[in-house]
Amino acid sequence: MPELPEVETTKRGIERLLINKTVEHTIVRHYKFRQPIARNIGYILKNQTLKTVSRRAKYLLFNFTKGTLIIHLGMSGSLRVVSLNTPKEKHDHVEILFNDNHCLRFRDPRRFGLVIWTKKNPFEHKLLKNCGPEPLTQQFSGLYLHRVAKNRTCPIKQFIMLNNIVVGVGNIYANEALFSAGISPNRPANSIGLDEFMLLSKSIKTVLRKAIKAGGTTLQDFKNERGDAGYFKQKLAVYGRASLPCYNCRQAITQVRIGQRSSFYCKNCQK
Ligand SMILES: [Zn+2]
Repeated sequence: MPELPEVETTKRGIERLLINKTVEHTIVRHYKFRQPIARNIGYILKNQTLKTVSRRAKYLLFNFTKGTLIIHLGMSGSLRVVSLNTPKEKHDHVEILFNDNHCLRFRDPRRFGLVIWTKKNPFEHKLLKNCGPEPLTQQFSGLYLHRVAKNRTCPIKQFIMLNNIVVGVGNIYANEALFSAGISPNRPANSIGLDEFMLLSKSIKTVLRKAIKAGGTTLQDFKNERGDAGYFKQKLAVYGRASLPCYNCRQAITQVRIGQRSSFYCKNCQK
């Protein structure tokens, strides 16, 4: 599944290529996604100029002259910018052609993605308005986590993956951040002290920043906006390393299920 770093990398790439370009034509080959695409989307987008691209949680916001196109990559989606003549591939369901012969292609084999038009403030859209803070902002801090974790007894790993607590901490990043902060993923959220939360919030930021720098993760078939699959695998400290020696202490990494998700940790280093 595309995670926050992939979405952020996609956003930066698209921004570089398509800002101030004008839509000439839109092709939709499939309308049925998590929500159906508006039948008149081609009519709506025609002759509109792309002003900015932004991201909120894992939603990409394409801000045009008259409103915003909200795109979510769902389980298997990817966006790329290609030249007009690039042959289309299977599952390239939506194509927006710009006046410089570049075209934005949305590929989504499983069609859990979303392509939605809104004329209103996109941040007030029902999909976005209840999202927690962005992990890479000052608003997200140890102090914040400590405050919202009061009375919350669910495991800390599950807690930091809740969208209304903080957005964009997917399974891999939650595992990695907890390892780096030395916190066991099983501990109830309200048992974590302020000092530990300070460390954890820093670890989450660091893990995500590294992933963005590396161009997103790696485990999936994510491709960048140019369509290259050339992303190298990031070095993961615990995720996927069941029974392998911990990089700190050489003790075997433990794998457990927490809230239906695979969790990896070192019983020696994470308390
Ligand atoms: Zn260890």
